[in-house]
Amino acid sequence: MKTQIVILTGAGISADSGVATFRDHGGLWEGHRPEEVATPQAWAADPAMVWRFYQMRRASLKDVEPNPGHFAIAELQRRAKTAGVPCTLVTQNVDDLHERAGSTDLLHMHGELVKLRCERCDHHETNDHDLEGDRWIPCRSCGYEKLRPDIVWFGEIPFHLDRIEEVMAGCTQFLSVGTSGVVYPAAGLLHLARSRGAETWVNSLDPPENMDARDRFFPGRGAEVLPGLVEEFCSELGF
Ligand code: ZN
Repeated sequence: MKTQIVILTGAGISADSGVATFRDHGGLWEGHRPEEVATPQAWAADPAMVWRFYQMRRASLKDVEPNPGHFAIAELQRRAKTAGVPCTLVTQNVDDLHERAGSTDLLHMHGELVKLRCERCDHHETNDHDLEGDRWIPCRSCGYEKLRPDIVWFGEIPFHLDRIEEVMAGCTQFLSVGTSGVVYPAAGLLHLARSRGAETWVNSLDPPENMDARDRFFPGRGAEVLPGLVEEFCSELGF
């Protein structure tokens, strides 16, 4: 069977760079729970509040840098590419730290903070400059007054599921990094890889909910563990 690698990353690797998550600050923002901010219902009821929240998160990208875990994954992808082995990175993270570390073949299943989209005409754009302030950013395609964050909110369908299914179908090596294993459908990928006979590698601080005795577990922070893990991974695969 032809070697094909799929890597899944979650909040743990971003946390190592200091990216704030909903789980910080007691899980509240301006007194709101995440389910009250990151939903289509909240956007419909109080778009200004939701926009303030996302502008704050977008602006905070400037305060964080990729860590050695991000760079190790980018290095793994480079070596795989040189060896002619497909290596797709699927991330649940909405920051751009994988891109900034040099990763390619990257699928953001929960969207991206640097992207916006128009609900009227479905225009998508990368906007990594208007990160300050609360004013609306109008659609350049149809003129609609306010673009929304290109983020998958609670109750919305994750992006790239067809492409993810395609790469999982041929997956022989699956590496899960920094996920809690409770957010579906991402949490189902480890089980899917295992059931299809892939070798499974897991790195996170604590064993994730979806882990199993057949997985090779590398406990610890990704920023510390991944450089060594990637060396071992590549040497076993011979590249
Ligand atoms: Zn538009």
